[in-house]
Amino acid sequence: MSYESVIGLEVHVQLNTNTKIFCSCPLTFGEQPNTAVCPVCLGHPGTLPVLNKMALHKAILAGLALHSKVNLFSQFDRKNYFYPDLPKGYQITQNDFPIVTGGMVSIHLGDGTQKDIQVHHLHLEEDAGKLTHSENENFSRVDLNRAGTPLLEIVSEPDMRTSEEAYYYLREIRTIMRSINVSDVNLEEGSLRCDANISIRKAGDPLGTRVEVKNLNSFNGVRKAIDYEIERQIELVESGGTVIQETRLFDANKNITMGMRSKSEAADYKYFPDPDLPPVRITQDLVTELEAQLPEHPFAKRMRYHTELSLPLKECIVLTDDQDVALYFEDTLANTTQEAKKVLNWVLTEVMSRMNEHKLTATEFTKKVSPQHTGELLSLVKDGAISGKIAKDIFDDMVATSKAPSILVEEKGLKQVSNAGELEMIIDKILADNPGQVEQYKSGKDKLFGFFVGQLMKATNGQANPELSNTILKEKLK
Ligand code: ADP
Ligand code: MG
Ligand code: ZN
Repeated sequence: MSYESVIGLEVHVQLNTNTKIFCSCPLTFGEQPNTAVCPVCLGHPGTLPVLNKMALHKAILAGLALHSKVNLFSQFDRKNYFYPDLPKGYQITQNDFPIVTGGMVSIHLGDGTQKDIQVHHLHLEEDAGKLTHSENENFSRVDLNRAGTPLLEIVSEPDMRTSEEAYYYLREIRTIMRSINVSDVNLEEGSLRCDANISIRKAGDPLGTRVEVKNLNSFNGVRKAIDYEIERQIELVESGGTVIQETRLFDANKNITMGMRSKSEAADYKYFPDPDLPPVRITQDLVTELEAQLPEHPFAKRMRYHTELSLPLKECIVLTDDQDVALYFEDTLANTTQEAKKVLNWVLTEVMSRMNEHKLTATEFTKKVSPQHTGELLSLVKDGAISGKIAKDIFDDMVATSKAPSILVEEKGLKQVSNAGELEMIIDKILADNPGQVEQYKSGKDKLFGFFVGQLMKATNGQANPELSNTILKEKLK
């Protein structure tokens, strides 16, 4: 008998606002416990929460990026339950009227197949504090620095059928949220959190009873937990048992899930509108304004690279995972005579390995080695002035010194031609041999300058004095 598995994800995205969602305490990470707290987030009686505008705007941006409907009316509710890290005795969340409803995330699976996952809704809520339990103490400690941190919960429809789909869905959520800068989306640090709802059924049957798995703090963990849970449910049903609705915890060391508690029903929380917070009313103008701020969607960017530049989809997926890496690629391509596929490979291998090695983000790497310099280096390779192997050595030097590749080629001990008369003769010949490029350059195709530099380097075995060459070339091309 064959079973189909059904998966829906609840993803919590910690918004990267400056302050908490209902008070002006700063968002902190790793600070001394209970130093970023105030009467509001400590839940003192008589205090009043005030909604953080930046959190609201980020939630709207996220909704727009997920092709959802942003609601002009939404409301905050109290979700009542007792927990030591929740001083008010309730969590402020959105139940009946969330800020965003519907939506869709298009994902690409490992083999490039596209699948669209529907989103049920997105809502804003506050995070709770953190409890720590030490083996040497017979009590627990509570840190309320995290209490009141803004969270955006993205609830999918039960549209996924395999752990692979859930994995790529979660990755895509991360890519999208990072592209619009609403969160740091780091699973290990907890700014991205995921609960997986899993059930099995025979094909064509209605949905089965679901189990919720928590504690998924790595991408591989998500895959393993789901696979384990599917196996467990099938074995259970096959041996005559029934799946009960419960919450289970994933143990990342053993790769198993363990029962934690039976799932509470919504009625247990006694939701009701929070009387301390007025309903949130926003205008369509605000939504339109925020929509105009959205950068190109990562999915659109990936498809653009794939179709316009004829680059393989698989590599485009990797390239657009981090929008800053994609930007580095585009800027390099705009500054080189080298072809797109070669530039892509260079970014995915040489640039990314050096980013990892030196623990640099793409932005930090850009400050060390500009895309202009990288483009110039690749032009030198393309034009045959230097070999690919030398280019890799020079690239290391560029990371270490931030110098231009032409300067480094010169410093590498290649004796340079610094005689202006000699250079002029060579340049004259290059310009005479390439009338088409000269014309294109003069009609505005600036990046062809690298082509001429490349030709010159080729003619002189990389030994032309770069500064002098630049001056003469610029003069002659005027
Ligand atoms: P709750 O309010 O109890 O958390 P929801 O209806 O909001 O329940 O669903 C939570 C998540 O569980 C959603 O992502 C949804 O897609 C998923 N889900 C609902 N039913 C099933 C099911 N039978 N199998 C797998 N996932 C499910
Ligand atoms: Mg839920
Ligand atoms: Zn506070």
